[in-house]
Amino acid sequence: MFELSEEQKLIQKSIHEFAKKELAPRAAYWDASEEFPWESVRKMAEVGLTGLRLPAIYGGAGADLVTCGVAFEEVARFDHNCAIILCSSNITGRILSYASENMKANLLTEIVKGSRILAFGATEPEAGSDIRAIRTSAKLQGRTFIVNGEKSMVTFAGVAHGFIVLVKTEKEAGEEMSCVFIEADRPGIDIQPLQGFGWRATQWGNVAFHEVEVPVENLIGEKNNALSMLKGTVQEQRALTGLIALGTAREALEEAVKYAKIRKAFGKPLGKFEGIQFKLAEDHTSLEAARLLCYQALSLIEKKANEASVWAAMANLMGGETAYKVVNDAMDVFGGLGYSRELPFERHLRDVKAMQIANATLKIEIGQGLFGKEFFPCT
Ligand SMILES: Cc1cc2nc3c(=O)[nH]c(=O)nc-3n(C[C@H](O)[C@H](O)[C@H](O)COP(=O)(O)OP(=O)(O)OC[C@H]3O[C@@H](n4cnc5c(N)ncnc54)[C@H](O)[C@@H]3O)c2cc1C
Repeated sequence: MFELSEEQKLIQKSIHEFAKKELAPRAAYWDASEEFPWESVRKMAEVGLTGLRLPAIYGGAGADLVTCGVAFEEVARFDHNCAIILCSSNITGRILSYASENMKANLLTEIVKGSRILAFGATEPEAGSDIRAIRTSAKLQGRTFIVNGEKSMVTFAGVAHGFIVLVKTEKEAGEEMSCVFIEADRPGIDIQPLQGFGWRATQWGNVAFHEVEVPVENLIGEKNNALSMLKGTVQEQRALTGLIALGTAREALEEAVKYAKIRKAFGKPLGKFEGIQFKLAEDHTSLEAARLLCYQALSLIEKKANEASVWAAMANLMGGETAYKVVNDAMDVFGGLGYSRELPFERHLRDVKAMQIANATLKIEIGQGLFGKEFFPCT
């Protein structure tokens, strides 16, 4: 049976109190102003959240994945965007574990301090779900890569100090891909902001690279081996973001239950009507089932189990779908007020919607586990 340890329960309680007191009061402001929440990032760094999963040698806490899930879920209850920032800091930090010692020393300590944000660029205008179709190239000339191409929908594009970019490193565009780190101040980088439905504090955008010169030392991991290098990190990111969506949904559900106990219609509290009670009872059940799926995925990823990849995809799929339904139902319980910007439900709904976007890729991965790869000739 899955159960949090006593230490994880204490962390859960303390992060809950921290996020409620320090992050919740500004969450609506960051969303409305679309400013990057540096003030909240610094607060999260002070309590060790920005480096929770990163190695102690760079100032991190080296926490296990379930502990990270617990922490990010609690942060997401009070500020979804901050939880996305945390997850990303820890994930880009994990990718950097394959980088040179010099890069690790320079970048990881700054990520842990909350003074550096890195972005990850894989998607391109003509390659999203089908990631092998990317065209961005990094051609080696002497000891310098010349990078050309465009990455689209990059979270933190407008605020990142550097980009971890998925590129093709061979002259002929083959299947092989590599990862290079590109500092944001290198000449030839053009950033176009994008306005999103949710995740409005994350400075989303498209990033174009025109003849950008990058030293060969900025290669992360081995050349032509990016997909296998990123496998574990992608799994972590999927299960953790599933939990982030569920954290936001959990807060919405608890608010809906409280409201249904006090709001009266037809002479009695809404919660006395089975139509309301059954809906929230079902949501509570799906939410807890989805959370368990995510935590199970995290422990399988930690153990590097063979089935971790499928579980991570299921966690993300179920996390996103469940969170969207739960927040939508919570909004309904509040009636017209739920639709207003006075309450956070419309913000929550916009934020958790992001988690449903990469559904096809998730289903392909789950389907491959179920049917066998021969049923997916396109992948
Ligand atoms: C909020 C947000 C943040 C993002 N941040 C980043 C980031 O930081 N870095 C980054 O690289 N990318 C980022 N992305 C991009 C994201 O990874 C892509 O949107 C996602 O991979 C889907 O790719 P696409 O948008 O090109 O859609 P497409 O691949 O064009 O798919 C379009 C639609 O077709 C469906 N589809 C695709 N293939 C199949 C199939 N075989 N069978 C059935 N249906 C299919 C998809 O599910 C989708 O509904 C972000 C996206 C969002 C919404």
